[in-house]
Amino acid sequence: MELRSNEFKARAAANLGDAKLQKGLGLIKVKAVVNRAGAVAEFGDFESLREAGKAIRNRALADLDLYLECFEREATARGAVVHWAENASEACRIVVDIAKQNGVKTVAKSKSMVSEEVGLNDALIEAGIEPIETDLGEYILQINDAEPPSHIVMPVIHKTAEDVADLFHAKHGTPRKTDPAALTREAREILRPKFMSADMGVSGANFLVAETGSTLIVTNEGNGRLCTTLPRLHVALTGIEKVVPTLEDVTTLLRLLPRSATGQAITNYVSLHTGPKRLEESDGPQQFHIVLVDNGRAKLLAGEMREMLRCIRCGACMNHCPVYQAVGGHAYGWVYPGPMGNILTPSYVGLENAVQLPNAATMCNQCGVVCPVKIPLPDLMRKLREEQMQRGLKPWQERLGLALWGWAAQRPALYAFGTRIAARFMKWLGGDEKLIHRLPLATGWTDGRDFPAPAGKTFRELYKRSKR
Ligand code: SF4
Repeated sequence: MELRSNEFKARAAANLGDAKLQKGLGLIKVKAVVNRAGAVAEFGDFESLREAGKAIRNRALADLDLYLECFEREATARGAVVHWAENASEACRIVVDIAKQNGVKTVAKSKSMVSEEVGLNDALIEAGIEPIETDLGEYILQINDAEPPSHIVMPVIHKTAEDVADLFHAKHGTPRKTDPAALTREAREILRPKFMSADMGVSGANFLVAETGSTLIVTNEGNGRLCTTLPRLHVALTGIEKVVPTLEDVTTLLRLLPRSATGQAITNYVSLHTGPKRLEESDGPQQFHIVLVDNGRAKLLAGEMREMLRCIRCGACMNHCPVYQAVGGHAYGWVYPGPMGNILTPSYVGLENAVQLPNAATMCNQCGVVCPVKIPLPDLMRKLREEQMQRGLKPWQERLGLALWGWAAQRPALYAFGTRIAARFMKWLGGDEKLIHRLPLATGWTDGRDFPAPAGKTFRELYKRSKR
């Protein structure tokens, strides 16, 4: 996927003016936020569950190497083949090699963010292999000239039913229909023969279970099951951080994930894959390959952003983020949007290539409050902002301004004098209207709205007066 994270501001500004997109994004508040709140209230002590989820993910990360080795041992003992990919190109090469060695012509894919991250579809196409997205949202994006997803759980949230109706009519050559159920049926009729004829199925994995060597996926559409059981080969492509020690741990995380993602107590399908088809079994793939992708995760584990590896990809942070709700996922310019992307993208592609993202947040901590595994997202963004300054990645005016502010803030008398002058100056700027139309040195604040003029006195002055 092409990296365009440094265009965040321009793309966000364009998206703010896109009425159709704004309508689609409004659905997030209606659906995801309200549904999650209902599911959490119904559950009861969700805070204890979050603590338990955090503890499980921390335990897995503390001994990640041991759990991964255990996973490999158990998966291999049950007939799966485990591959290790250090980076995106190695992950693609492994999957393409498996496909070529087995004469694969078509690949049925269920939803996998790691496959987006490593650019698997492009690699398959380059090798002459046809990838077919079978998640409805991903399928819509694929036939729309391989448009990238805008949300990790609801990839097509930026599109209306009318958009999909036009697309299906144009691409399928069928009569135009707008009823979502009819559109879904049409996609199903087109996809069903592709499942039947695909040589290889590619899935992600929501979790890897160390004690059994199993991969686990949660889906609502059933396409995941078809991808992983009908083709003669199944390849699960996932990040190394997804491992958890036991099946018991997975059951705890499964209580957290759907409730946080869509407000469901459980998804329609929870599929556990343990090895390929056995002799006595009638269904399942003849070969089961698991590709464990590092692609920057080991580096994250050793650094300040380590807590981000707890992420279970529920999307709750973006659903509740006022910035994401306003600008949509495409503004973030890479695979992972919203608060989790503000940390993951700079961590994986380099801060200099996603320099605006840690600032794409109001620091309201909505994301931190809803994160099912208690990742302190604002704290991590703040650390990245510090790194921006230390590495000189922000404009010199901003760095100079903050350096001057820092210098003055350490001198209380000077600081009090400066703020007294500034408060009076801003009151004067507001005039009779008491509104500042253009703030000097901070025009971004007033480009789209007026700034209320302050009272002309500093907080300290007002506080002193009120005490008197
Ligand atoms: S950071 Fe937390 S809230 Fe956001 S996707 Fe990951 S687990 Fe979910």
